[in-house]
Amino acid sequence: MESAILQLSYLIGSVTFIMGLKMLSHPDTARKGNLIAAAGMIIAIFATIFLYEHGGQRLHNYVWIFAALAIGTVVGTMAAKKVQMTAMPEMVSLFNGMGGACAMLISLVEYNKPEVKETGTMLVIALGMLIGTVSFAGSVIAWGKLNGRIKDKTIPGGQAINFIIFAGLITLVVLVVGGFFPAMPGLFYGILALAALYGILFVMPIGGADMPVVISLLNSFTGVAAAFGGFLYNNPVMLTGGILVGSAGTILTILMCKAMNRSLKNVLIGSFGAQKASASGEAKEQGNYKEISLNDTAVLMAYAQKVMIIPGYGLAVAQAQHACHELEKVLEEKGVEVSYGIHPVAGRMPGHMNVLLAEADVPYEKLLEMEDANEQMSTTNVVLILGANDVVNPAAKEDPSSPIFGMPILEVEKAEHVIVNKRSMKPGYAGIENELFFRPKTSMLFGDAKKVLQSLVSELKQL
Ligand code: NDP
Repeated sequence: MESAILQLSYLIGSVTFIMGLKMLSHPDTARKGNLIAAAGMIIAIFATIFLYEHGGQRLHNYVWIFAALAIGTVVGTMAAKKVQMTAMPEMVSLFNGMGGACAMLISLVEYNKPEVKETGTMLVIALGMLIGTVSFAGSVIAWGKLNGRIKDKTIPGGQAINFIIFAGLITLVVLVVGGFFPAMPGLFYGILALAALYGILFVMPIGGADMPVVISLLNSFTGVAAAFGGFLYNNPVMLTGGILVGSAGTILTILMCKAMNRSLKNVLIGSFGAQKASASGEAKEQGNYKEISLNDTAVLMAYAQKVMIIPGYGLAVAQAQHACHELEKVLEEKGVEVSYGIHPVAGRMPGHMNVLLAEADVPYEKLLEMEDANEQMSTTNVVLILGANDVVNPAAKEDPSSPIFGMPILEVEKAEHVIVNKRSMKPGYAGIENELFFRPKTSMLFGDAKKVLQSLVSELKQL
């Protein structure tokens, strides 16, 4: 009976994961989807704690279990409440690393159990150790790079070194699983050491702007490592969860590569960071740019038929989403049609702009995906770019030597007027110049996005 309840709770857990994931794909249902999946996870965890049996024994070390649960809950809740939206990717990376570390520890514990293991079990233990450790070490490096503690570092001959380490890892896994040297348990710990080194060296040279792709890839590794845990413990909910994370991570990785028009291989070994350094090193003389006043911007927008707002990372930094929604409402009261052009990698994480604008109650129908936004561009009178830079950089289309060449962009120059709000002429995340700022159609509106938007709203109200 109890075993039936346990299996039923696993089934409920698995179903809620799938439902949650489905609901996460739309901003209206994402919050609820997250809660549903979390509820399923809680059911599965408590069912395991109280009902799981192995060799006729229940779990009994409750003090350890609940102490760990309590610490994890407090730390997780505090971190999630405190985190700035812009620091979200680094938190995701760190949390993902914890998943990898769990998989690593599971393998360590299982390896050290005295019972004799079949080859299949050993394979799962060894691969769980390898993938979990790579994910853990890689995620910690990604976390450090995103928050600026670790700088991009290209190691001479890095690719060859990585290849040798990888070959070494595979050899160790074969030796351990095949049981060739049973008297040498050190071989197993060799997997741990080499995998940690591989995780570090593999992420180290990857350029900052490519980090989300790497995090998503490491996320899928953690999923696979967790699924191995599911095999080990014959636990269907762990298996389902792991497979879902693994496949979702893989799909997201592919989608992001497509949004930047780069292959995964190019992201991983393309050394974007190095190209970036040389590209910004030879910054060309760009000529003059022109500025526009708040008043002129207000007039231009008030008498436009169609205005498109292009949000970017700077909008998130300035926390200007509410002011932005305010601007949209004032313009609509004046009969102007307002929409938002959303680039798939605008901001610092997938869906960043959608989440940010949803927070300010911007209706979802107003958010246009890049292709739709580009179609509407030629009939748009004013494009207002708020803290976006790389995602509107024409070099992506025009300059084959640019590190972002080939990345699809929002083609703002097809509109009648382009107004760019940012604080200075500094480059964006990719670290490269943006010629758009010097083009005839473009006017610069300098200042912090929130302050500029607030002033713009009051100017518009007076018109
Ligand atoms: P960018 O980083 O290219 O540009 C942001 C601009 O915002 C900067 O040029 C900055 O200029 C300006 N800015 C900063 N603070 C403020 C402020 N308070 N008020 C007004 N402006 C401000 O952002 P994009 O969104 O255009 O591009 C995203 C970049 O990030 C791409 O390169 C993308 O590949 C990368 N990326 C995307 C991820 C994703 O998944 N979405 C994840 C990680 C990276 P100034 O300093 O002059 O104000």
